[in-house]
Amino acid sequence: CGIVGYVGSKGADGRQHTALDVILEGLRRLEYRGYDSAGVAVIADGTVEYRKKAGKLSNLLEELEEHPLPESNIGIGHTRWATHGGPTDVNAHPHVVDGGKLAMIHNGIIENFSEIKRELQAQGETFVSETDTEVAAVLLARTYDAQDPEHKDLTVAMQDTSRRLEGAFTLLAVHADVPDRVVASRRNSPLVIGLGDGENFLGSDVSGFIDYTKRAVEMGQDQIVTITADDYAIVDFDGNPAEGKPFEIEWDAAA
Ligand code: GLU
Repeated sequence: CGIVGYVGSKGADGRQHTALDVILEGLRRLEYRGYDSAGVAVIADGTVEYRKKAGKLSNLLEELEEHPLPESNIGIGHTRWATHGGPTDVNAHPHVVDGGKLAMIHNGIIENFSEIKRELQAQGETFVSETDTEVAAVLLARTYDAQDPEHKDLTVAMQDTSRRLEGAFTLLAVHADVPDRVVASRRNSPLVIGLGDGENFLGSDVSGFIDYTKRAVEMGQDQIVTITADDYAIVDFDGNPAEGKPFEIEWDAAA
C-alpha cells in the first residue's frame, strides 16, 4: 500500500545516496499503511533488475543481502496490500514484463482487468501472476512497443493505457529504453511528487521522501507525471499539460 519512485543525478559530486537507499527508506516510512509484500526495481547498465518478497520488509532486505542489486540512480519500490492474487513472491510487485524491459508497481484496484486480460491472452500474451497489476504492465508494454519507432514515448503510452483502465490506481513504471525517467499515473489513488536538487521523488504520501526534501507537488486526479533528475512534467490522460500544486512539507508531517 506504499509507493516510492526516485531518479537522481548520475554520478553527481557529493551524491550521498543510491536509488535503493532512498527507496528502502521511503518504504520503511510508508510501512504504517500496512502491507503483505514488498519489492524494488532499479535500472543499471540499461537493464531492469528487481527483487520482491512476500512478508515484511525485512524479508526483502534479507533477499537484497543475499542477492544484491547493482548500484543505480533510478528505481521504484512498493509495499503491497493484496487484492487480486494471494500474498506470494510472484504476485508481489514490481511486475517485470516485456522480456525484462519494463517494471511496474501499482496501488489500488483495476476494475476491468479481466476483460483486458482476456483480450491480451487472445493476442498471445501470457501471465505469471494473478494480479490486476500485471495486466496493466503488459498493456503498457504492448502500447509502448506498438509506437512508431521514431517517436517512442513512455509517457504517451501511459496516457493510452490509463484511459483504458477503470478503478483506482497509482501506477509507476520504468523502462530500460529510457533509464532517465519514472512515469506515474494517478486515478482515485494517492501520489505526491518530491522535488530535490538534481533528484526527484514520488511517494504515496510525503513520508516516501521526507528524509530528502521538504518541497513537494500535489497532483490532481487523472494525471500523469514524468520525473527525471532535473525536471518533472504533468499531463492529463489526453496529454494536455497540467499543473500541480506546489507546497512545503512542514517538519511536523515527518513525526
Ligand atoms: N491490486 C494490486 C494487487 O493486488 C495492488 C494492491 C495494492 O494496492 O498494494 O497486487
